Amino acid sequence: MESSKNFIDGEWRAPHSEATLPTIEPATGRSYGQIADSDARDVDAAVAAARAAYDVGAWGRTSACERGRLLSRFGQRIADLADELTTMESRDTGKPIQVAKADIAALARYFEFYGGAADKLHGETIPYQTGYQVSVLREPHGVTGHILPWNYPAQMFGRTLAPALAAGNATVLKPAEDACATALRLAEVATEIGFPPGAINVVTGAGATAGAALAAHGGVDFMSFTGSPQVGQIIQKLCADHYITCTLELGGKSPQLVFADADFDSTVPVIINAIIQNSGQTCSAGSRVLVQRSAYDTFVKRLADAFVRVRVGAPEMRRDCGPIITHKQQTRVQGFIDAAVRAGVPVLAQGLIEDGVDPHGFYTTPTLFGPVPRDNSLAHEEVFGPVLCVLPFEDEADAIELANSTEYGLAAGIWTRDGARQIRVGKRLRAGQVFINCYGAGAGIELPFGGSRKSGHGREKGFAALHDFTTTKTMVQHHG
Ligand code: NAD
Repeated sequence: MESSKNFIDGEWRAPHSEATLPTIEPATGRSYGQIADSDARDVDAAVAAARAAYDVGAWGRTSACERGRLLSRFGQRIADLADELTTMESRDTGKPIQVAKADIAALARYFEFYGGAADKLHGETIPYQTGYQVSVLREPHGVTGHILPWNYPAQMFGRTLAPALAAGNATVLKPAEDACATALRLAEVATEIGFPPGAINVVTGAGATAGAALAAHGGVDFMSFTGSPQVGQIIQKLCADHYITCTLELGGKSPQLVFADADFDSTVPVIINAIIQNSGQTCSAGSRVLVQRSAYDTFVKRLADAFVRVRVGAPEMRRDCGPIITHKQQTRVQGFIDAAVRAGVPVLAQGLIEDGVDPHGFYTTPTLFGPVPRDNSLAHEEVFGPVLCVLPFEDEADAIELANSTEYGLAAGIWTRDGARQIRVGKRLRAGQVFINCYGAGAGIELPFGGSRKSGHGREKGFAALHDFTTTKTMVQHHG
């Protein structure tokens, strides 16, 4: 692997400018390598390779069955390389080793799932006028562009590329400049196990240059973006300039609705895990806990007693949380904590950073706030860190109004023993996924995922992703 180069057309290529960016280890704050700081010329080369692979190359002629076999083989190879990829991902992102390991298992599962699905994606026939045969073909877009964030680099590689490739697209990926190691290695491994040159191209670099050049490129037929709402808007506008569509996955402020009749024993650990998982840097983090007022004091005491046991440590310490990805993000998260304290929002509990972590690492103390006033920014803005806020609600109607009161709409959790309420409330929540007496349901590769409004649009995971990564062609044949 040559991490300061791009992977284009099945080979390592230095960026045209020969410029590089440092890779910083979140656990130590120190640089440990370089990545290519690519510009529009490198993106051009990657799109040209993908175009050729799709339009005239081997990839465009690969059958659905053979694509499925390749994806499944890739999944198996990833599982074989799990130790190497886990170490790489953990160092690049600061994830505790056991978390990075689970991410690599999920990455392998994406290729296993979509490998099995590749030849099961059918078109349809439509009964039309007498004398006509109508077939609706389901076809790949052609060349798909993928811009990724840094929070789950390896998992996201699988989440976006596996369905795109299963559907037959040729792909160009721009990973986040803060965490690209696994994407580069995976592109190389894919070629070793038989993906034809140009099917998977990886170009690293800054968002405003390499990322923008990809979204603006006239040779790209469809874009998939995961990241901030601000950049999501930019991507959508760039896509509109050349009349293509995109999926946007932009994060959330997902509520956990805890009713007084919930089983607190099973609720508390899941709610804590839903915010501290990946140090809170998860788009679907359950970052708002809404608690029925009649049970507020009892529940919040249980939550606070458990929250103080949250531990933060270096990746190899295998604690609940690792460091935040960058100094910039750490400062942003700390800014939310400091502002809430200044505004007089009560701190209910804090976790602990272990002794012995590197003082230059980007560690942040997990913090539980409550009751958070409904107009405080903590109640409606995405922090993207280990910060949990608790708000009381009065009754079911108030719970629904409060849950739907942010600009986001990604995921939600409902905690109650009342079966009718589970459905009644679930149907009224603005969220792409609703979990009842559970949250997250594992990596959920089979489950359609995505949001609305500031959380974005389009669906990833499950068969839904295969639909987003394809389009239809209606063929009408007159046979008399
Ligand atoms: P970001 O949106 O700036 O970066 C995400 C990706 O977009 C990166 O690959 C980046 O290089 C690229 N990018 C940036 N500017 C671009 C541009 N002008 N054109 C094209 N591509 C561009 O996210 P960030 O600054 O790394 O994180 C900021 C906030 O975004 C976080 O605090 C969090 O709230 C949110 N976020 C959400 C997710 C998610 O999973 N939904 C992931 C990461 C960050």
